[in-house]
Amino acid sequence: MTRDAEARDELPDWAGAKEFYQKYDPKEIIGRGVSSTVRRCIHRETGRQFAVKIIEVTPERLSPEQLKEVRLSTAKEMEILHHVSNHPSIISLIDSYESSTFIFLVFDLMKRGELFDYLTEKVTLSEKETRCIMRSLLEAVYYLHTNNIVHRDLKPENILMDDCLNIKLSDFGFSCILKPNEKLRELCGTPGYLAPEILKCSMDETHPGYGKEVDLWACGVIVFTLLAGSPPFWHRRQMLMLRMIMDGRFQFGSPEWDDRSSTAKDLISRLLEVCPEKRLTAEQALQHSFFQSHQRDQDTPVKRSQRFRIAAWAALACVRILVRWRRARPITSQLLMRDPYGIKGVRRLIDACAFRIYGHWVKKGERQNRAALFQNQPKALLLAMGDDDERDLEM
Ligand code: ADP
Ligand code: MG
Repeated sequence: MTRDAEARDELPDWAGAKEFYQKYDPKEIIGRGVSSTVRRCIHRETGRQFAVKIIEVTPERLSPEQLKEVRLSTAKEMEILHHVSNHPSIISLIDSYESSTFIFLVFDLMKRGELFDYLTEKVTLSEKETRCIMRSLLEAVYYLHTNNIVHRDLKPENILMDDCLNIKLSDFGFSCILKPNEKLRELCGTPGYLAPEILKCSMDETHPGYGKEVDLWACGVIVFTLLAGSPPFWHRRQMLMLRMIMDGRFQFGSPEWDDRSSTAKDLISRLLEVCPEKRLTAEQALQHSFFQSHQRDQDTPVKRSQRFRIAAWAALACVRILVRWRRARPITSQLLMRDPYGIKGVRRLIDACAFRIYGHWVKKGERQNRAALFQNQPKALLLAMGDDDERDLEM
């Protein structure tokens, strides 16, 4: 028996667990991870609500290697969380307890849950809302990177929202503290969010490895997804999806990108840059005009001349709307039958209904994807539900 195992055996099963249960009253499950369950809990003394991530480390469920791996990665996650928890856009680790079978991590409770679920409810977000979320996320990433920490699993499932829709970054299970000039080689993360250099490095032994830039690529995938409702890289055959990522092949397709600003598209193109050296850093991204223009709107009072210009534009817009409204063809039943998806209002309704009906399938596995729900074909919907044919399983 190793010294580690002996030490664990000496630890009473209930030591940390008892302490946790004395202090907190665990309630319903609010989330699940690969080897963890997250529950709402109440601090007995103050009645305040928190979230507790309960990580099971029992030999019945995991092999000795897996047990060691889970303990090690949880210790690393806790170390990083202690380092970064004081940032306003990063989840705070409040308390932690450990017994021989369970680890309890107590966090701030984020009542609105994942950004992923919020997006599923809304289908797509406005540029204003996207700007607000992305600014907080990039500030969190900038803070991590200045502390030489790379997150490696940025995605809407790991971005949590509170009552006021403020976001906090969570799940530091894949995070890593980088030594000066250190490069990583490990293939980890979530397929749709993996940067090209992570994939290339896993296929080529001579590749120099990857660094913090991978988080900015994932930010690019997130902005795209928030604005379009579907991710930039998706193919039902995973091998082809990975090829698209490595080539940086994505499109601002019609109709979902028709009404989006060129600054938003420019930001995305600079984040989804295949070459990590040319990709925007978190600091550069925060200085991009996508964020600057909005700040100017808020900070400077509107001058007289600007007020006049706004009034003139508003009058002109009213005239245009009136003319278009007069010219507009009525929506007939024939038009609706022929191309319902071509009518903007109906298109939004179809997307919203598809998400309401099929949204919960999207999250079941890696091979099911929001993108399929936007393809507006029965086959695509079946795929989103996981009805793959034999060919799809080829890698
Ligand atoms: P894993 O590392 O296993 O993916 P996470 O830390 O991402 O675990 O937690 C799993 C899920 O639990 C999250 O995606 C989220 O839905 C929920 N969750 C985690 N932390 C909180 C929190 N502080 N408040 C509310 N929900 C949370
Ligand atoms: Mg997670």
